[in-house]
Amino acid sequence: MENCLFCKIIAGSIPSSKVWEDEICYAFRDIAPQAPTHVLVVPKAHIESCNGITAANSAVVAHIFEVIPQIAKAEGLEGGYRVVSNCGADAGQTVHHLHFHILGGKTLALEMA
Ligand code: AMP
Repeated sequence: MENCLFCKIIAGSIPSSKVWEDEICYAFRDIAPQAPTHVLVVPKAHIESCNGITAANSAVVAHIFEVIPQIAKAEGLEGGYRVVSNCGADAGQTVHHLHFHILGGKTLALEMA
């Protein structure tokens, strides 16, 4: 997608602090971390949000959820971590390329909304 920030990060035209890359997904540090560890995991294929997950592309999401524990382990998140995906305006989604926040490195607040 031409004007997608995360597509540009995946392509390398906007710099990022990479923590994982394979043929299906890319992970990098959030520019405005909300926790000591705050990593974003994105599919390389452009999917708008959770609403864009279909039978045709859900294997990409399954793969990301196989990668997430490996990133968490590499980041030393043995104590636990949170995975969040904001979908749409009410959830505060600001970048319209599906992404999963990995948050950890401290005891996280329990509030979900
Ligand atoms: P969301 O609000 O769920 O759409 O999450 C978008 C996230 O992207 C926010 O946590 C931002 O801090 C993060 N973000 C925006 N621009 C960049 C960037 N250039 N590099 C890394 N993270 C970014």
